[in-house]
Amino acid sequence: MLLRRLGDLAVASRSAAPDLSRALCGNGAAAEMIPLTSIRVLRSVEAMRRWRKPHTINHRSVGFVPTMGALHRGHLALVRAAARDCHHVVVSVFVNPAQFGVREDLASYPVTWEADAAELARLDRDIAGDGANLAGGVSAVFAPATADMYPSGFPGQAVDSKGSFVSITPVGELLEGASRPTFFRGVATVCMKLFNIVQPDRVYFGQKDVQQTVVIRRMVRDLMLPTSVVVCPTEREPDGLALSSRNVYLGTRRRRVAVVLNHALRAAEAVYRAGKLDRASLLGAARGVCADVLKAQMALPPDQGAVFEIDYISLADPDSLEELDAVDPSRGAVVSGAIRMLPLEQTREGEDVGHAGGPLVRLIDNTILPPKAT
Ligand code: AMP
Repeated sequence: MLLRRLGDLAVASRSAAPDLSRALCGNGAAAEMIPLTSIRVLRSVEAMRRWRKPHTINHRSVGFVPTMGALHRGHLALVRAAARDCHHVVVSVFVNPAQFGVREDLASYPVTWEADAAELARLDRDIAGDGANLAGGVSAVFAPATADMYPSGFPGQAVDSKGSFVSITPVGELLEGASRPTFFRGVATVCMKLFNIVQPDRVYFGQKDVQQTVVIRRMVRDLMLPTSVVVCPTEREPDGLALSSRNVYLGTRRRRVAVVLNHALRAAEAVYRAGKLDRASLLGAARGVCADVLKAQMALPPDQGAVFEIDYISLADPDSLEELDAVDPSRGAVVSGAIRMLPLEQTREGEDVGHAGGPLVRLIDNTILPPKAT
């Protein structure tokens, strides 16, 4: 694996095991590294572009995994997938303010650089030791400053903000977009910027954010971007809860109840497998699970229960995400949902209430109903 990387302008060799977080890069300047690895940390657009250039000339493929940090197994699965397919893997860590609404959790969003660097270092060693990968490890982390990503100034998070935006409609206005009107504008805009900077051959996204995958695929197709979109399965906790950087806000009590969304979606899936195709049967099963769990929680004393609200439960076409009255079995469908776990009504002495005092947490999840042979 190491041999593949020797022709690159990449720096310290794995066997030399640099114990400093800085090494010399091609032009003799000090390059920031994740300690004890050969993972470059690139903090400016210019540095990223400089790193990218020789790989284009040398016909080395670059896989790109955009993230907002607070890395978990879901993010790492995307990195592994990119390492299997591509000569180089670039991971971005950038908490994009444009995809948060004016009243959303930007200020308390978990920023965990040290832990993220340690996760990437561990994964880098795993990838290097696994001969099935095309990449020898993680090549670079792109962690730009907000001012660098928004050179004309940050345009703001309001719906009527003025600025240079990418809007993918109508798909970006449905479902998540209905609850969070600036979210997909922020996502599409930052992904367009990141793709223009990193110039990846392939980009890797998680199925967990199904609407994001539809928006990005549409953006890539309609705006003629020269990259392939790869979607990887959702990584889950053993009980089925989809991994999310936001799960840290839940605390123990709400964490136990939060799995209700996954159970609800699986109930709809079971009804589909049993042969039903109509909206009322599929979504009725999902809503029934939510209603039962909510009733049980509300019957508990306020220092025991955890209560949630359903934002939406949807049965939609897999390509357009338009709502369906019935599944066309030759196309299949997506069942998706969002719930709001409300702050605990009453907490107990010493109780783990979650990160940032256990605020309202909005959780999303989905399941794909695959096409059926007719
Ligand atoms: P985020 O850091 O939340 O913006 O997510 C970065 C990428 O990781 C997106 O493509 C997400 O869809 C993906 N991702 C987040 N959670 C999971 C998960 N549980 N399984 C697989 N991919 C995920």
